[in-house]
Amino acid sequence: MPKPITNSKQNYLIKISGLVQGVGFRPFIYRLAEEFGLTGWVENRNDGVLIKVSSANSTISQFIESIKSQAPLASNIYSITVNKAETEEFKNFYIKKSTNVSNHVTEISPDIAVCDECLYDMKHQKHRIDYPFINCTNCGPRFTIIKSLPYDRQKTTMHEFNMCEICEAEYKTITNRRFHAQPVACNHCGPVYSFTNSTIKTSDLNLILEHLKEGIEKGKFFAIKGLGGFHLMCDALNNIAVSELRNLKKRDGKPFAVMFKNITELKKYAVINKVEEKLLNSWRRPIVLLQKKEYLAYEVCNGLTNIGAMLPYMPFHYLLFERLKTPAIVLTSGNFSDEPILISNNKALESFNNKVNGIITYNRKIFNRTDDSVTMVINNIPRILRRSRGYTPHPIRTNLNVESILAVGAELVNSFAIGKGNQAILSQYIGDLKNFETYEFYKETYHRFSKLFKFRPEIVACDLHPDYLSSQFAELLLIENKNLKIVKVQHHHAHIASVMLDNNLDEKIIGVSFDGIGLGTDNHIWGGEFLVTDLLDFERYSHFDYIPMPGGDKATKEPWRMAFSYLYSAFGDDVFNLPLPLFEKIKKKNITSIKKMIDNKINAPLTSSAGRLFDAITGILGINLFSSFHAEAPMRLESIIKNKINSYYDFEFVNETISFSETIRQIVIDVENRKSNSEIAAKFHNTINRVIITKVNEISKQTGIKKVVLSGGTFQNKYITSKIETALAKENLKVYVPHSIPVNDQGIAIGQLAIASKKKI
Ligand code: ZN
Ligand code: ZN
Ligand code: FE
Repeated sequence: MPKPITNSKQNYLIKISGLVQGVGFRPFIYRLAEEFGLTGWVENRNDGVLIKVSSANSTISQFIESIKSQAPLASNIYSITVNKAETEEFKNFYIKKSTNVSNHVTEISPDIAVCDECLYDMKHQKHRIDYPFINCTNCGPRFTIIKSLPYDRQKTTMHEFNMCEICEAEYKTITNRRFHAQPVACNHCGPVYSFTNSTIKTSDLNLILEHLKEGIEKGKFFAIKGLGGFHLMCDALNNIAVSELRNLKKRDGKPFAVMFKNITELKKYAVINKVEEKLLNSWRRPIVLLQKKEYLAYEVCNGLTNIGAMLPYMPFHYLLFERLKTPAIVLTSGNFSDEPILISNNKALESFNNKVNGIITYNRKIFNRTDDSVTMVINNIPRILRRSRGYTPHPIRTNLNVESILAVGAELVNSFAIGKGNQAILSQYIGDLKNFETYEFYKETYHRFSKLFKFRPEIVACDLHPDYLSSQFAELLLIENKNLKIVKVQHHHAHIASVMLDNNLDEKIIGVSFDGIGLGTDNHIWGGEFLVTDLLDFERYSHFDYIPMPGGDKATKEPWRMAFSYLYSAFGDDVFNLPLPLFEKIKKKNITSIKKMIDNKINAPLTSSAGRLFDAITGILGINLFSSFHAEAPMRLESIIKNKINSYYDFEFVNETISFSETIRQIVIDVENRKSNSEIAAKFHNTINRVIITKVNEISKQTGIKKVVLSGGTFQNKYITSKIETALAKENLKVYVPHSIPVNDQGIAIGQLAIASKKKI
């Protein structure tokens, strides 16, 4: 009888690329091979993982399927290739010592929230009872502690700690969950926390937790070192504590992020759906913006209806909640005004001393600073608003060749990006470069990325705006390196291109780019733009009508200025007779002074910005005459919408521009008729969506293009975005949504990268 084919053994080489190092991949392959009874080996390469197995034909496909379906949580397989290989006899399956094969860099894992198995171990492993730095190959710090590659303990900030015998044995045992877990440590050998205030200094964990519990219950607040930087912390249910914390932070009414003990507690305070729950529980543990219920301290959200919620992600968070009575603590970034989040113990002791009731640090250094990432779910799709911890430095794959391109980003919500082959690597969220310390952080991070990813730019892409510090940084690089080529990219083109890269779109599409501010090719300030664009070039098809922005940048902080500008343009000199809160609350002389600016065209640059139109409406309604943080006005306007209202205001298309004069007049009539602000806000939002749908349909009919991208800060507005995506889809248009990048200016660098990759040829 002939032997069945399935019994014949064959050798295979399996090459896996993607995020497969530092995430427990080799032990996983080892266990899987044992399970399947395969012999051979697995090896870490610079460009991924290589496996050689001797297997029956029928088994190999099942083996591959299991790799795909059971891969470690934080791993991310990009490709698997299987080839038949020379026959070789193996006695068993083993893990080979690593060899470097090329200059390719493998991916670096983002930081991973502590896993359930480690939480279990924290209560059962003798040497790790309550150990606040417990981790394994499936969890723990990664990007924040790594200095260079390959990922190895000596190249992380864990190099200062010598493993004890027990840890070392675990580290060396293939079947152990801590096999090659670089930050492995225990109560005998690892980092420790310490607590400092004017009277107490201790490294006793029990005492630290007791001090914290007592302090938080008494309404005190503390600075505490997190995974990527310091946080400021207090009871989220104690209004006095929260408002004192707000005073300490010196700025703004920006909402504070809140960490909840667990999902059950969180559900008492916020409305969540399944997608949001999954996102909250994911190993990335981002902040998720949720619709709040009523009970938290008012000062946490400061009148807004969203709450930025997250779940514990460090072992210490769990240990703390075990003791606390409160189910929710404010955990906001430890910095003052617009500075970057603090990471150094000394600086924290210096800055927070006498300002907080205690500083909790630990003696493992943070090398790469990361803020908590911020996300939101719209139409059941997770969107990233701030990309940092848990996401950085995970690359975005593209069909474009972005090799050796540096994109320096925008200015206000900055990140830069570097290109490695077909990978676009976005830096962590950096912040507002106009702040001195933030710009220092930017430069430092660029140098660290260059070293970490062995990156040297040949092309640098920057914004058209010559005053952006990022553009000036590009010019400096140009002076240092005469061979460097520079590509200048229009801001809104970059916004659209970023989402195109994220979706691997490389063709002519319709781009709707609405945001606060971006320099246009005509030297005016753009921000309400309809583009017909590909990655190489764009045509400005239509835009919001130009309106003076009296006082320039000042208008972005004082929405009453845009309110007046829009009103003046709609009503002329009759404006002063309008019964609006603006004219009661703002001094007459201030109003006449900006009227003069507009009349004389002095310090009143023209803008087509959507963000400024939202500002104007909040100013007209008297909701927000002054802003204390970026995008406050549109956030407040959106948050007052309550009822389902489908009506909208009129607007006009005049040549290639869109005029809102009629909208403004009708809003004033509604105010005069004592319609509620909530209703007016809803009608205004509907108007914006009506403009988009009408215009996009018109462009689609004229050009035959059916693909649409919406990008720019305005599309962080859930009301606008959820409705417009649905409405456009109903018109048989295909809307592309960003999955891995923010639609705000943090994503600009990715758009610049895409455009530069096209322009270089
Ligand atoms: Zn773990
Ligand atoms: Zn140990
Ligand atoms: Fe922008």
